Amino acid sequence: MAATFKGGYHVHDHKSLTNTRPTEALPDCDLHIFPLRQHIGAPLTPCVAVGDYVYVGQKLADSDQFVSAPVHSSVSGTVTAIKEHIHDSGTMVEAVFVENDKKYEIYKECVPHDYRNMSREQVLTLIRDAGIVGMGGAGFPTHVKLQPKTKVDHIIINGAECEPYITSDHRYMLEEADSIIYGLKVCMYALGINDGHIGIETNKRDGIQNLKKSKEFNEHIHIIPLKKKYPQGAEKQLIKAVTGRHVPAGKLPADAGCVVVNVATAVAISNLFKTGLPPVIKNVTVTGDAIKNPSNFKARTGTPVKFLIEAAGGFAAEPEKVISGGPMMGITQYTVDYPVTKTTSSVLAIVKAQKTYDEAAPCIRCGRCVGHCPMHLMPYKLAECSKKDDIDTARRYNVLECIECGLCSYICPANKNLLQFIRMIKPDVMKKVREEAQNNGK
Ligand code: SF4
Ligand code: SF4
Repeated sequence: MAATFKGGYHVHDHKSLTNTRPTEALPDCDLHIFPLRQHIGAPLTPCVAVGDYVYVGQKLADSDQFVSAPVHSSVSGTVTAIKEHIHDSGTMVEAVFVENDKKYEIYKECVPHDYRNMSREQVLTLIRDAGIVGMGGAGFPTHVKLQPKTKVDHIIINGAECEPYITSDHRYMLEEADSIIYGLKVCMYALGINDGHIGIETNKRDGIQNLKKSKEFNEHIHIIPLKKKYPQGAEKQLIKAVTGRHVPAGKLPADAGCVVVNVATAVAISNLFKTGLPPVIKNVTVTGDAIKNPSNFKARTGTPVKFLIEAAGGFAAEPEKVISGGPMMGITQYTVDYPVTKTTSSVLAIVKAQKTYDEAAPCIRCGRCVGHCPMHLMPYKLAECSKKDDIDTARRYNVLECIECGLCSYICPANKNLLQFIRMIKPDVMKKVREEAQNNGK
């Protein structure tokens, strides 16, 4: 029987648009734009200048802070500008512009490494210098994740891919199964753990079978079929399903003895050790009913998203919405000029949004948002607190535990956009928590 967690909801996945489409290479793109914010952590400083020649895999910007991750070029060519450019967060971010000479010359320092001949520290340093981050979208530096402050005994590869429409991880399972397991083995080595787990939703049974057929598969690799349910891929829900453990409120997966790494991140780790290349190419799904030929692409980072849309045949109709990511947790864009980053997994263009919200409609106290919230919160109550700016009550009702999965807004029969209100009050609660910690000298 497939494992799962309490709460959540079966949302229509729309994955048939692209899940059988093999990942395709893109044509050459003339100009690549590398935002210096592709991670969670300290900001980066450019280490190249306008006019410099750069190679594939060469570092463009870095930081001397532990929680940070450098950015590398995905093409060879000349740096033509370092200036602000639109980012998929909707803000302007400093970026390095590289004119692609289409030779794809590889940086001399990008050489393969056998992790089995390296110390744990050397493995972690290599991952850090390659700028590997949570490539499913989180962007948290992987070298930090692999050095937890508490003892962990589980490493879980997140193959749930529970967001509707996105199939980029599914294609990795079908096309790069060896790399996923090899990347998992590097993580097991870095953490000193003998066994590794891979959690995959049962709507990807062919992916499960393919991983089991991989030459890297052995008795220490455990594939856990997961019930198809949203948000099965959220860290705490995945840990519950795979291990039965509960991550307490305010705690991290490591506090429950677990580290979770995304499928795309495992592939990036494998590529780094096998080829020496940092994560400069990744699977991106371009999909939705506004796209002429929904497709999966192998995109070099820095490629403008409009280039991917053109490669997918362009728009079939005027999209009402273009979203970076999926419909539940993705970010709506006002332009398609933003570039692919390490954390881009999907571009979704839809002709008509499936749901319109009505803030004037009264809550009918049906309790659906409470019953399905995967974090066991009271979304209607939190939204009420937000409207009244009642920070203390929102905090008491654990608003900071909200993982912003969007399920409460999705299932509300009164069409209330609960998440929007929850997002509005969270920063205020966080600010208060920080101020109190500072005053208490923590
Ligand atoms: S967005 Fe937050 S409150 Fe709403 S269902 Fe998800 S976790 Fe619960
Ligand atoms: S789902 Fe909507 S209508 Fe039902 S209790 Fe929650 S906010 Fe109210």
